[in-house]
Formats: sequence, structure tokens, C-alpha cells
Amino acid sequence: MLKVEYNREKYREAALKAWSTIRRNKIERLKAVNETFDDYIFDIDSRKIAYGTYRINAPLIKKSKLTWVEKGGVGKELSDGWSLNYAVGCTHACRFCYVDSIHKRYGERRAGPLVNRAWGNYLYTPSNLDEAIAGTKWEKWKGIEVMMSSTHDPYIPSLTETTRKLLEAALPAGVKLCIQTRSPLAVRDFEFLSHYSKQVRVQVSVATMNERLGRIIEPRVAPPESRLRILEKARDHGISTGIIIAPVFPPVRVRPSPSGDLEEIISRISEIRPDNIYGESLHVRGSNITELEAMLGQKLDLENFDAAMEIKFHRTLAKYGLKGRWWKEHRN
Ligand code: SF4
Repeated sequence: MLKVEYNREKYREAALKAWSTIRRNKIERLKAVNETFDDYIFDIDSRKIAYGTYRINAPLIKKSKLTWVEKGGVGKELSDGWSLNYAVGCTHACRFCYVDSIHKRYGERRAGPLVNRAWGNYLYTPSNLDEAIAGTKWEKWKGIEVMMSSTHDPYIPSLTETTRKLLEAALPAGVKLCIQTRSPLAVRDFEFLSHYSKQVRVQVSVATMNERLGRIIEPRVAPPESRLRILEKARDHGISTGIIIAPVFPPVRVRPSPSGDLEEIISRISEIRPDNIYGESLHVRGSNITELEAMLGQKLDLENFDAAMEIKFHRTLAKYGLKGRWWKEHRN
């Protein structure tokens, strides 16, 4: 029988080639309508973000593939199989994020041509939010956990008011929410959320405690310590908490020891003791590794990395009297 082997290098080259072609064609088309090439290169300057609006369809809660394996997802306990997304784009601009590739494929038809700009530099928000809220039968999801959100952070600055409106519609109807954020702006809603503490968990992600690596991979996100303080404040309001330690990067010049970094994160979270702890290594998706390698100026060696970090994750948690769940690289 013919043995088909997964060839990481070949896959990476093919993905990069396809990606470059799509990007080049779109840039050429948009240049023809007088936009500049500069708009397609990421720049930390948030004045480069272009905003637009789009019509969103009710119901606002949709099936999510990013959840339980039994429900066809990739094995992440981020909801009961549902998500609440209400923007196209995310101005946090994390360099490892793979949402951009979804928008580059489907976003132009759904929202508009701004999706062809660099990731982090476009954001479409709903023009008909009130209509969509009214058109969603929220009670249908009573007692069911929904992820808020899977394709953007609900607390990027342009979404805070929208998020509050949605909380005020969903929570009194009994919907449970897993609020996933990297933004300290979430704290503003904790007083309100504390009235629904049995329906809500607030979860943050931290990839590294290393400042230099953090600035490269999450250029517009609050420092890790600010994100961990979000959890402390949630806990003080009686709200359930969670942390996702991800994506754990392999050794890189600016941060040679992933194990030391992981230990630093876990040692800090041992003071907070979140209700849920998850971990995940950097996964190969689309052309993300090639793009990260270009940004970091070096090759990333992911061979056996996922399995080694899984062991390190559990051992380090155990050392601090904690337990957690590792989300395996499901392509391996
Ligand atoms: S906050 Fe989440 S959705 Fe936004 S860029 Fe970062 S990883 Fe992507």
C-alpha cells in the first residue's frame, strides 16, 4: 500500500505560494482603484486601521467548529459548540492568528474589500446590530455555553459598546458565555457580569512572559501581567476564570528557553489559581509559520515540540499543585 507521509516543508512551500498569489492578485486589483501598496504592509501604528460596516445576519449565535471533538471541532473546550462573532477583523493583530486567512477567503463577499489589507489593519462592525439582536431568539441557548468570540477579541476598543449590548441581551435570557479576551477593557463590565456569575467565565490568553517576544508576536496587546490582572479582578467579582497558555513558541533567539518561559507563566498563575487552565503550542496553519519565520528572522523547529511541551506543561502545573488540559497539535 502506498504510504502517504505528511511533508511539513512541502506543505509550507505550497501554502506560501498560494498565499502570495492570492495576495498579489488582490493588491493589483485594489491598486487599480487608487489605494496604496503601503496599506497592505502591517504597521504597529493603529492609525493605519481602516474601518467599515457590514450587515450581520440573525441569529447572532452560530455553530462553531472550534470546540468539542464530538461535535466536529478540534478539541477545545471553549463552548458547547456555539460562537458569537460580530466583527470582521481584529485590531489586536496577533502575528500568529489564523483568522485572517478565513477573511481573505470569504470576507470580501461578506463584508468588503478592506479585508485585503494587512491583518490587524481592517475592521468591519455591524451596521444593523439592533435589528440582529432583536432577530436572535436568545432563550434558545438558555443554559448553553457560547464562545464570545472566536474570530475577534470582544474587547478591542471599537467593540466595547457592542459587546455590552450583547451581554445585556444574552445573559438575562440565560445564555452562558465563555468570554475570551486579551484586553483589560473587559474589566469595565465585571460589575454587570457579577450578577450572572454562574453563566460566565472570563478567559485570557498568554503566550509568553518575555517582553521582546511579546512585542513581536502580539504587537498591539496589553502586556501579560495586565492580562493576568484581568483574571484577578474577575475572581474578585466572583466570576469563573480561565487561562489559555498559548501559543507556546519553540526556542527563538529573543527567548531561547520555552520551558523557562512556561515555568514563569505557571508560577505566576499559581497565585491566581484560575478555574480552567489550557495549553497549546504554536500550530502550523496556512502560511503562519513561514510568515512568523520571516518576522523573527530565523527558522522555527517544531519537530517533536508539541509532545515535549505537553509533558513540560503537566509537570510544571503539578509542581505548583495545578492541573490543566493540553490541546494537542491535531495535524501531527
Ligand atoms: S486577539 Fe485573537 S482574534 Fe484577535 S488577533 Fe489576537 S489571536 Fe487573533
